[in-house]
Formats: sequence, C-alpha cells, structure tokens
Amino acid sequence: MQRQILALDMAGTPRKWVSAENAVAYYAKGVVAYEFGAVEMIFHGGWQRNGVRSCIQVSNIIAVRGPEFITRDYSRTPLLNSDKLYARDRHLCAYCGVQYRERDLSRDHVIPVARGGRDTWMNLVTACRACNVRKANRTPEQAHMPLLYLPYIPSRWEDFILVNRHILADQMEYLLAKVPSTSRLRATCSAGF
Ligand SMILES: [Zn+2]
Repeated sequence: MQRQILALDMAGTPRKWVSAENAVAYYAKGVVAYEFGAVEMIFHGGWQRNGVRSCIQVSNIIAVRGPEFITRDYSRTPLLNSDKLYARDRHLCAYCGVQYRERDLSRDHVIPVARGGRDTWMNLVTACRACNVRKANRTPEQAHMPLLYLPYIPSRWEDFILVNRHILADQMEYLLAKVPSTSRLRATCSAGF
C-alpha cells in the first residue's frame, strides 16, 4: 500500500492526503514549513560525484506553505459517500447491531426518501441489507426498529480519518487529538474493517 502523507496548512489544519512523491516535490520546492511523525528516506536525485545519492526525508505529517494550503472552509460539511458513512458507523447495522463487511451493507434513510428524507449525514445510517428491506419505506418508529445509534456530521478532522483506510499510527494520533470525544471513531480506530 502506498504511503500517504498528511498535509496540513500552516496552522496545523488538515488539508489533504498526498502521495509521497507529491510530498517530495514540496520538500524540493522548500515549501514544507514544519513536520511531525516518522520519517522515511526517499531516493530522489542522481548519484553525486562523491558517490552519495541525493535523497529527501519525508515525514508522515507535513505543513505546507502556499495558496493551495490556505484553509478558508473551516465549517464545510464533509462530502458524503457510502464508504465514509460505513466507516463513521463502524460498519455496524443501526438496527440489528451486527458488524458487516462493506459488500453486505447499505445506506438507510432514517426518514425514507418517499417521505421527504434527504441524502444527508443526519438522515443516513448504515444498515445490513436484511434490515433495510425489512424497514422499507417506514420511519424507525413506524417499523418498530429503533436506531441503536444516532447519525451525526463528522468533523473535518474525522473526515480525514474516514477517507483513508491505511492511516499510520502517528497520523491517527494527530487527527484523533481533535476528534470530539463523542465520536464513534474514538472507540474503533483499530477495528480492522
Ligand atoms: Zn441489520
């Protein structure tokens, strides 16, 4: 699995996951302001006359200078997709409480679309296919299927955890430090799904 580098703005707010190659380019341009986390050596240039090959050390977390890395959208709601929704909900069906693999899960609209429910973080939960079919076009109350947990909107920091399944330990520690204590992610970061 290719190592992903967590790129921050100058204030330490996560901006994006970048490849190690992109990170090397930031180092080469001299725009890495500071760094944390484990370091890996990446061979980059050619052989020098003294027999030493030029290389760049890339940390797992880097803060980058420049317009691309200025955060203007602090309060944006993270984009929603099924993978992130399942990760938010720890791959647990909201109705039977069983943990499933992704292929056995579905998105359930708490208020069904047919009754005006929307595709939002607050109206979606993870459900196994059997529960989703059983609930059909009913609210949890109508179906007598109470929610075992409540939906919520992930924070920006949490969103960075939700999109990357191969987060390194120091990156996870950095991101989790700002994730609210109420987040389900706090219980699950090593869940292995
Ligand atoms: Zn279920």
